[in-house]
Amino acid sequence: MELALEKELLQRAAAHAIEYVSTRSERPVWPSAKAIQDLDRFEEPLPEGGTCSVETLDLLHRYGSPGTVCQADGRYFGFVNGGALPAALAARWLADVWDQNAALEVMSPVAARLEEVCERWITDLFHLPSDTALGLVAGTSTSLICALAAARDETHRKLGWDTRERGLFGAPAIRVIIGAGAHGSVHKALAVLGFGRQSFEVVPADEQGRMRADLLPKLDSSCIVIVQAGNVNTGSFDPFSLIVDRAQEADVWVHVDGAFGLWASASENLRTLCSGVERADSWSTDAHKTLNVPYDCGLVLCRNRETLGRALSTAGSYLSSAGRRDRMFHTLDMSRRARAVDLWAALRSLGREGVARLVDHLHARAEQMARLLEASGFQILNEIVFNQCLIACETPSETEHVLSLVQASGKCWCSGSRWRGEPAIRFSVCGWNTTAVDIERAADAFRHALTDARSARSTLTG
Ligand SMILES: *Cc1c(COP(=O)(O)O)cnc(C)c1O
Repeated sequence: MELALEKELLQRAAAHAIEYVSTRSERPVWPSAKAIQDLDRFEEPLPEGGTCSVETLDLLHRYGSPGTVCQADGRYFGFVNGGALPAALAARWLADVWDQNAALEVMSPVAARLEEVCERWITDLFHLPSDTALGLVAGTSTSLICALAAARDETHRKLGWDTRERGLFGAPAIRVIIGAGAHGSVHKALAVLGFGRQSFEVVPADEQGRMRADLLPKLDSSCIVIVQAGNVNTGSFDPFSLIVDRAQEADVWVHVDGAFGLWASASENLRTLCSGVERADSWSTDAHKTLNVPYDCGLVLCRNRETLGRALSTAGSYLSSAGRRDRMFHTLDMSRRARAVDLWAALRSLGREGVARLVDHLHARAEQMARLLEASGFQILNEIVFNQCLIACETPSETEHVLSLVQASGKCWCSGSRWRGEPAIRFSVCGWNTTAVDIERAADAFRHALTDARSARSTLTG
């Protein structure tokens, strides 16, 4: 390809992206029926010969952009998805052009160096022990597999078993202690690592989904304890200090799933939610949720660098040193993109105060939503400790009806869940650009939906 054409493509991509950003406030949050129908345009046979690159890009913008869920605007409250900070997004564009492989320092000095800088900054931001090791992965799901592999191997070592040499067959049993509110990705990671459900000891949760520390079983050195910073429904945090005290007495590895909640430790106002997490052994979190780095950027953090490195080590005749900056030994992947670039740009552009402000902002907007909805007759099912607001109407069917009307309104979008056996609406504030006005509009959409749901019902019954 000629350089001139390459430049034209990059410029066109930038122009399409800028148009997308400029029109985001007019886009429905969930794509229109027509936009989804138009995705049929992509259903063509694989072209026999090549096609024009410019036309391919234009096709993507023409039919792809309208088929997106508009997370780039502040009216998206689904799952715990998060937006994309412009500083991180722009840095990522440049890094995409660099096309670095971050496996080894020899493949990309800049990726390796920025990952080392991020390791220091993140450790500092979360008040973790000073030599904590960082690996950048696709997300918390992968991070859990990495960290729990280290936990498993270290626990086996304490029991006189070398997992890397002898494998899992015939290994001494490990007792996995998890909360009843643990995320599905924790179960998945455990299954991948060879732990069946029968090896779990599930600790009951309180009414907010927090692990009941008073109901922890007796711990011994064959245990791994997994706690949670940020329940996906309520946003609640396990009582870490009490749990870590008990674990440390018994020399037990504690892992923290803090996919979105660990970021509370970066805010002076919310830090107490995370008291005690710094005494754990490993942590999983996402930069693509609370910090608003573009997908995909997950973090695995481990107090003991050697243990993580041993659990994820690989050898190959063509692989050079195992230097400290060779980060493939902190992740499952070998080849991976330079995730440190967007993470670094987000952290540098926000600074310590900016990260704290972002976290506080998400919390304040969730509180605002709860206040507005409570005043309009909705039930708020959780204590708003972080960014989650869990909502219900008078009856389960009304809750489901209101959720579907809100989703169809295009004015905002949030997802549903089940809480204590009943349907609930999960409203998650995780975008940097959600304003107080966006929250007022979202509350309006809820009020309209409730009115419509009730009038539809009275028409039916009347
Ligand atoms: C989102 C989430 C996960 C999974 O993270 P991914 O980045 O989607 O893999 C795990 N635990 C909790 C509490 C989460 O919110």
